[in-house]
Amino acid sequence: MPSAERLRGEPVAAEIRADVHDRVRELDERGVTPTLATVLMSDDPADERFVELKHAACRDLDIASQDVRIDPGAPAERLHHTVDRLCADPEIDGVFVQIPLPDHVALAGVRRRLDPTKDVDSLSFANLGRLVRDDPRYLPATPAAVRRLLTAHEIPIAGEDIAIVGRSAIVGKPLANLLLQKCPDGNATVTVCHSRTSDLGSVTRRADVVVTAVGVPGLVDGSMLSPGVTVVDVSANRVESGSEGSTEVVGDVDFESAESVAGAITPVPGGVGPVTLAMLVANVARAAERQADAEG
Ligand code: NAP
Repeated sequence: MPSAERLRGEPVAAEIRADVHDRVRELDERGVTPTLATVLMSDDPADERFVELKHAACRDLDIASQDVRIDPGAPAERLHHTVDRLCADPEIDGVFVQIPLPDHVALAGVRRRLDPTKDVDSLSFANLGRLVRDDPRYLPATPAAVRRLLTAHEIPIAGEDIAIVGRSAIVGKPLANLLLQKCPDGNATVTVCHSRTSDLGSVTRRADVVVTAVGVPGLVDGSMLSPGVTVVDVSANRVESGSEGSTEVVGDVDFESAESVAGAITPVPGGVGPVTLAMLVANVARAAERQADAEG
C-alpha cells in the first residue's frame, strides 16, 4: 500500500527558531529583551498546556514572558482591564490571548482592545483588516504555520485548488486570506467549508490540498480525498485511547485511510503545532524589533 510523505513540523520549526535566535541576539546587543505576555481565562488542562508550551518556546530562545491567568468565572471587564494594562506596559512587546474564552466573554471585546502593534497573533480587528487587504502587520501564527509547512516541503500553492474545512476567525478565515494573497506563496483558489456545507466530500475530492481545522476526529477519511492530495490537519483533539483512562491527541483526518491515498500528510501531533509555536515567537521578535526601531 502506498504511504504518503510525512509533513513533519519540527524541522520547519527549527529553521524558524534559528532565525529568531539570531534576531534575539541582535536585540540583546541593543539592550532589548523581547517580552511576550499570555492571558489565559480557562481552567481546561488542554488550554493550560497550550500556554505552557508558548512559555517554554520563549524560554528556549531567551524571550521573556509573563503568564497572566484570569478566573474563568470572572466578569469580562477583568479580561478587558488586563489586556489594556498589558498593552500599555512598555516592557511588553507582544500580547497573546488564549482562545476559546468562556461563553460569557465576547471575543469582539478583546479584538477591539488589543493594541495592533502588540497583537502578535493578529486577533485585533485592525490586524485582521490588514490581512484581508494583503498588507499584514503580523501573520497569524496557525495560518502562517500551515503555509510555511507547505512551502518548506515544496508543495505548490499558486494556482492550486485548496479546500479549507472550518471557517473560524482564528484558523479557517485568516488562512483563506493568506492563501489568496497576490504573492508567490499565495494565489491559490480557495474553497472554505463549514458545518452547513452540503457535500463535504465532493469539495475535498476535487482539491489539490485539503486543510482541516474543525475539531471532529475522523471527519475526513481516505474516501473523501483524491489520489496524491496534500493533507494538512490543524486539529489537536484529545480522545480516549485503548487503555482505561488514557488519552491521545488525534486530528480531524482519519490518518490510516488518508495516508494510503494522499501524496503528503501532516502527522498529529507533530505537524502544524510546532510550526505555530515557532511562528508566534518569530512575531514576538518582530514586535520587539519594531518597538526598538521606533524608539531609535
Ligand atoms: P472552531 O472555532 O470550533 O471552528 C470549527 C469550524 O469547523 C467551524 O467553522 C465549524 O463550522 C466547522 N465544522 C464543524 N463541524 C463541521 C462539519 N461536520 N463539517 C464541516 N465543518 C464543520 O475551531 P478552531 O478554533 O478553528 O479550531 C479548530 C481545530 O484546530 C481545533 O481542533 C483546535 O484545537 C485546532 N487548533 C490547532 C492549532 C494549532 O496550532 N495546531 C491552533 C488553533 C486551533 P460552523 O462555522 O458552521 O460552525
